[in-house]
Amino acid sequence: MNKEELVSSIKRLSDANGISGFEDEVLTTIREEGSSLGTFSEDSMRNLYLQRSGNKEGLPVVQLNAHTDEVGFMVKAIRDDGMIEFITIGGWVAANIPAHMVRILNKDGIYIPAVVASKPPHFMTEAERNAPLDITKMVLDVGAHTKEEVLNDYKIGIAAPVIPEVSCLYDAIHDNVIGKAFDCRIGCAAALATMKDLADTDLKVNLVGDFSSQEEVGTRGSIVSTQTIKADLAIVFEGCPADDTVVPAYQAQTCLKKGPMLRHIDARMITNPRFQRFALDLAEALDIPVQEAVRNGGATNGAAIHLSNAGIPTIVIGIPVRYAHTHYGISSVFDVEKSIQLAKAIIQKLDEQIIKSF
Ligand SMILES: [Zn+2]
Repeated sequence: MNKEELVSSIKRLSDANGISGFEDEVLTTIREEGSSLGTFSEDSMRNLYLQRSGNKEGLPVVQLNAHTDEVGFMVKAIRDDGMIEFITIGGWVAANIPAHMVRILNKDGIYIPAVVASKPPHFMTEAERNAPLDITKMVLDVGAHTKEEVLNDYKIGIAAPVIPEVSCLYDAIHDNVIGKAFDCRIGCAAALATMKDLADTDLKVNLVGDFSSQEEVGTRGSIVSTQTIKADLAIVFEGCPADDTVVPAYQAQTCLKKGPMLRHIDARMITNPRFQRFALDLAEALDIPVQEAVRNGGATNGAAIHLSNAGIPTIVIGIPVRYAHTHYGISSVFDVEKSIQLAKAIIQKLDEQIIKSF
């Protein structure tokens, strides 16, 4: 896949709306982007499966996972003055929420722009300026005056999904993308591109794309998808929080423009050391830059997948995303390309014997 196609795919996927449980628009985009690659099917969790054309009876199954959902919010209650209370979906910190734009899905299926309201500084007391932020006290403002107006005119009801209002931009001079939901739409783009590039390649494994839902609320989609696929091996693409602007240089393990991050461990998975070694050795042999990481926090769909089907050797190919779980992430297209290159190299080398050795 050339850069232009890859950037276009990243942009479309980043812009698609899909908080956990409401991933429909993302699935439509993936079906369009991957229409030539095989057969799609879907379950009631909105997990989307892509069986590669050319898969043959009897070959080991390789699961290529990325999650489709993004962090966002949901309408909880509407106050009499038309201000809208909300809950968070996925991990947010209070400081990243106020004074941003969001879009709220109304009952007609239209996205209504809104602002996360904050009291203008002119009206704040000294005590209010210094008080810690509290998400439960924040509200969304669509410009209405009353609850009735929100319900009847704006047609916004409780449980409406709320998404950060962001359009993905590509800085072609520096090869960076800035946008929302790179965790994990950038992984969805990488999984699709990997399957696209391998479309005409003869493989000794069967490939199943697994675009799973509800990762941000506890890897729920992949708990189901992995039981359906029953893979022999899994590669999880993930948009991973970059640490190069937040820790001392000697500790940084997820930097922009240094290639995919392969974690040895996180809070919920010890990566299969034999598969991890295989991937790292292959990257070295092919001169693909990679970053190794030891993480004491975080988790991915690998957590659910590696524990299923009598144990599935699983690695995570992490694409660094600065400022994950905020409105604006920054990623390097170079890192996406290197992630795709590594996944393709692994898949082309795999056979039954190698998988059994893990
Ligand atoms: Zn993620």
